[in-house]
Amino acid sequence: VYSKYIRFKYATDGIVQCVTCGVRKPVSQMQCGHFISRGKYSTRWHEDNTWPQCVICNMFKHGNYPKYSEFLIKTFGASKIEELNTLGDTILKISTADIEAMIEHYKSELSKLQKLT
Ligand SMILES: [Zn+2]
Repeated sequence: VYSKYIRFKYATDGIVQCVTCGVRKPVSQMQCGHFISRGKYSTRWHEDNTWPQCVICNMFKHGNYPKYSEFLIKTFGASKIEELNTLGDTILKISTADIEAMIEHYKSELSKLQKLT
């Protein structure tokens, strides 16, 4: 649900742009790319850490990290990289109830976005 939400959030008429190479493709062909690896729970569902990426950048280029850094610096300023790195190293205690609440939240946000397209 979260991945779909991220892709729809930045889409126009069902088309979304890869933040690291600029290619534009239908939402269904794009992925939700993590700057800090998705293995880290504290940034896994952080909206500043997750952006639409194409399969080539996300999978084959392993996130296209140099371009991803450039994008984040351009969007938020240089301090964002350090902020996300620090946050990524924080241990997040998350309960099943927290996860369920998050799923409900993003389901509802996603349905609002899908009504717009
Ligand atoms: Zn790309």
